[in-house]
Amino acid sequence: MATMHKKTLHNVDVQGRRVLVRVDFNVPLDGDRVTDDTRIRAALPTIQYLIDHQATVILCSHLGRPKGKPDPKYSLRPVAQRLSELLGRTVHMADDCVGKSVGELIAGRGPGDVVLLENLRYHPQEELNDAEFARQLVHGAQFFINDAFGSAHRAHASTAGVTAFVPAVAGFLMERELNYLGRALAHPERPFLAILGGAKVSDKIQVIEKLLTQVDYLLIGGGMANTFLKAKGYEIGQSLVETDRLNTAQELLRRGGEKLMLPVDVVVADQFAEGAKTQLVDVAQVPVDWRILDLGPRTIEQYRAKIRSAKTIIWNGPMGVFEMAPFAKGTFAVAHALADLAGATTIVGGGDSAAAVEQAGLAERMSHVSTGGGASLEFLEGKQLPGVAALADMSE
Ligand code: AMP
Repeated sequence: MATMHKKTLHNVDVQGRRVLVRVDFNVPLDGDRVTDDTRIRAALPTIQYLIDHQATVILCSHLGRPKGKPDPKYSLRPVAQRLSELLGRTVHMADDCVGKSVGELIAGRGPGDVVLLENLRYHPQEELNDAEFARQLVHGAQFFINDAFGSAHRAHASTAGVTAFVPAVAGFLMERELNYLGRALAHPERPFLAILGGAKVSDKIQVIEKLLTQVDYLLIGGGMANTFLKAKGYEIGQSLVETDRLNTAQELLRRGGEKLMLPVDVVVADQFAEGAKTQLVDVAQVPVDWRILDLGPRTIEQYRAKIRSAKTIIWNGPMGVFEMAPFAKGTFAVAHALADLAGATTIVGGGDSAAAVEQAGLAERMSHVSTGGGASLEFLEGKQLPGVAALADMSE
C-alpha cells in the first residue's frame, strides 16, 4: 500500500530527459489571481529537482469543472504566472494540453525549461480516461511523474491512462503523502486517534468502519455528530441530520463502544447565520427550534485531553460551521491542540480541515497536511487509488 513498493523520482534517471508531470494545480482563483498557492508550492520540490537535472518539464493539471470545453474562467494561465514567480524563471503557458501548436511549443524547449499545459478538463476525454487522448498527452516524454495525490483517487487520462505509454513514477509530494498516510495506518505509534468531522456521516461511513478497527479513539464532531446524537435518542432540533443513516449510526455506535466519542455539549443557534442568537447547551438540552453548529467548551476540553495523550493523530473534517466566526471555536481548538503536541505524528486530511489549519497559520506545526481531501479519505478507507496503482512497482 505504501510507496515503498512504488518507484519514485529517486529511482529513475531523468537527467536531460523530457518528462510529463501530473500536478494538482486546482487552486482557488479570484478572476486572474491565485488566492491560495499552497498546492503550487507543494509541487515545487519535484519541479525544482527536474529543472536541476536539466529535464524538459511538461506540467499538466485540471482546474475546476469546465465541463469538457475551453472556458477562460478555468484557464491555468494565472497559475503559470504564480509558478513563474515562485521558480524565478519563465513558465511557458500552452494554449491547450494536446494538439499541434502545443507539440511545437514543447519541441522548441530545451533542458531546464518548464511548460504548463492548459486545463486537462477542457477535453471530455480526460475524465473518460480516453486512451488516444492519453497517448497525445504524453508528448513524447520519456517519463511520467505523478505528483497529484489529490487526483489519485480518479482513473483519468492524466492519472492512469498515460501510464500505458510511458514509465510512471511518484513525485516527491506523492511519495510524502503516501509515506505519511501509509505509515500511520500500517505502524501507528499508540495511542492512535482519529478525529472526524464535516457535514455528513454518509460521506464517511466507510472511513469510520475502517478506522474503528485500527484506532484507539475516534472523536466525532461537525454536522455528522448530529446523526449519531439522534441515533442515541437525543433531541437535535433543526440540526443538519441524515435520518436515512440512523440505523448505520446505531450500528457504528455499537461497534465503536468506548472508542467512539461524541460531543457532550454544543453551541446552538436560532438560525443558520453568522449573526444568529446562540446558546451553549448540554447535548440533552437542544431546543427544538435551534440547531447545533459547533462543539461546546466541555467537549473541547475532553477532546483536547484525548489529543494530548495521543502519539498518532489523523484529522479530517471541521468540528463546526467554521466558515462563520461564532461557530469556529471547536475546529480551531482542535487545530491548536494538534499544533501544540510535541513528539506526536499529526496528519491533517485535505479539504476543509487543511484550510482551517492554513487559516490559523498552523500548517507548519503539523507533521503533514495532506493536499488531497477525497484522495486521503479513500486512502484511509483502505482503497487502492487508481493513480497510485498505475505507478511502476519497485520490483519492475
Ligand atoms: P465536509 O465537506 O463533509 O468535510 O463538510 C464540511 C462542511 O461541514 C463545512 O462547510 C462546515 O460548515 C459544515 N459543518 C460542520 N459542522 C456543521 C454543523 N454542525 N451543521 C451544519 N454544517 C456543518
